[in-house]
Amino acid sequence: MDITLRPHDDHTNGWSAILPPRRAHATLRQKLDADWLIIGAGYAGLAAARRLAHNRPNERIVVLEAGEAGDNASGRNSGFAIDVPHNVGSSTAELEKAVNYKRLMKAGIAWLDGIVRERGIQCDWSEKGKYHCAAAPQLAETLLRQHAQELTTLGEPYEWLEQAELARRLGTSFFHAGIYTPGCILLNPAALTRGLADSLPDNVTLFENSAVTRLERGRMIFASTDHGAVSARQLILANNGSASQLPGFERQMFNVASYASLTRPLTAQQRARIGDVEEWGVTPANAVSGATMRYTRDHRLLIRQQFDFTPGMRVDERVRGRIREQHKEVFLARFPELGDVAMEHFWMGFFSITRNGAPRWGKIEPNVFAAVGCNGVGIAKQTIAGVTLADLACGVENELIADMLELGAPSRLPPRPFLDVGVKAYLAKERWVGRQEY
Ligand SMILES: Cc1cc2nc3c(=O)[nH]c(=O)nc-3n(C[C@H](O)[C@H](O)[C@H](O)COP(=O)(O)OP(=O)(O)OC[C@H]3O[C@@H](n4cnc5c(N)ncnc54)[C@H](O)[C@@H]3O)c2cc1C
Repeated sequence: MDITLRPHDDHTNGWSAILPPRRAHATLRQKLDADWLIIGAGYAGLAAARRLAHNRPNERIVVLEAGEAGDNASGRNSGFAIDVPHNVGSSTAELEKAVNYKRLMKAGIAWLDGIVRERGIQCDWSEKGKYHCAAAPQLAETLLRQHAQELTTLGEPYEWLEQAELARRLGTSFFHAGIYTPGCILLNPAALTRGLADSLPDNVTLFENSAVTRLERGRMIFASTDHGAVSARQLILANNGSASQLPGFERQMFNVASYASLTRPLTAQQRARIGDVEEWGVTPANAVSGATMRYTRDHRLLIRQQFDFTPGMRVDERVRGRIREQHKEVFLARFPELGDVAMEHFWMGFFSITRNGAPRWGKIEPNVFAAVGCNGVGIAKQTIAGVTLADLACGVENELIADMLELGAPSRLPPRPFLDVGVKAYLAKERWVGRQEY
């Protein structure tokens, strides 16, 4: 079948813009035979490739990436490698699932940590933890108190912080309360993704700017790109929301866009105005209307805010212009004393959502495996999804495979246009409920 759904890359990713230039791997311009074909070089595809190479050192693994490593969602996100789940729920089943998630995410972080150290990847890896914050007292008393209770039940350490202490640590008194957890890693996601892509084992060949335009699944897999083709015995789908076009995946996930802005590095004078605070990361209690924020090692401020329903993975210029302006307001609401700080970069990225939050992970057909339907939080989660998928595909025992299976399968989505109405109504409701977080 023809593959037409791919994320639009407008080459605006701020995280890669602040890095030195990188030479992409070659574009596929030949016909190749491989043992394994992986589609997608995000966290899932790169982790699966590395683990497959380890499991099958004598087999040939080809990775086809539509764009360039670091310019996909894996490189465009806010750079929080998160170790503990939020919004756990109160039933025993939900709690058990949260324990599975926690184990998986911690294993994903540990795996990345090992590679970052071993391969010397310079990605500003920072063991700073994160703050989960609410601006409205009422949200602090509901969502944050519930999150604190969940952390207690999960046996995770945390600190409850009131406005004054948050202001001292973050340099803004916008938040009424917050919860600090120490296990989250802050990093430059484009640098991490590039580093992972540029340090793959010898039996993996990555082709960039090589989108799969046609895919045939049968006893053998045939994939065509604009200038070449691969035939392989086995296929790993690691193409995130783009997989929603494939038969068997259409009613399982949909795509959303989110947006980020990054300031210039603050001058010494500007830094003094917010109290010369250290690097930090904030996630919002209300994920839809609130803003994720970072204060980076090189003294930039990042804002990630707004989700839109984008099944076709496109956002028009008008919408982007509006959100870009919105980010300036969000920034000034938190840092009114930094009105002279310029926003240097603005970009968007896409990722996939399933109705019940379960990933589309596992064996799909005898020679087809998938790690898609990320539901965000993909730095840790999609990394371990890729590792465990490679083990599953090779028949290698890994106790985390049971944790992945425990997460379940995506529940069926309503057909469009009912899906559109439902998702838009949900986003509108959350924006209203969390309007003070904006
Ligand atoms: C703005 C934003 C902020 C976020 N913040 C965070 C955060 O702080 N922490 C966190 O953990 N997560 C965050 N996320 C989510 C995170 O980025 C994703 O969960 C993660 O990138 C998913 O990894 P993946 O490997 O599954 O997919 P992707 O990173 O999307 O990789 C899939 C790859 O498949 C490729 N592809 C698609 N179609 C084809 C084709 N036909 N041929 C070849 N290649 C193809 C794509 O180009 C892409 O490179 C954020 C996302 C966004 C957009």
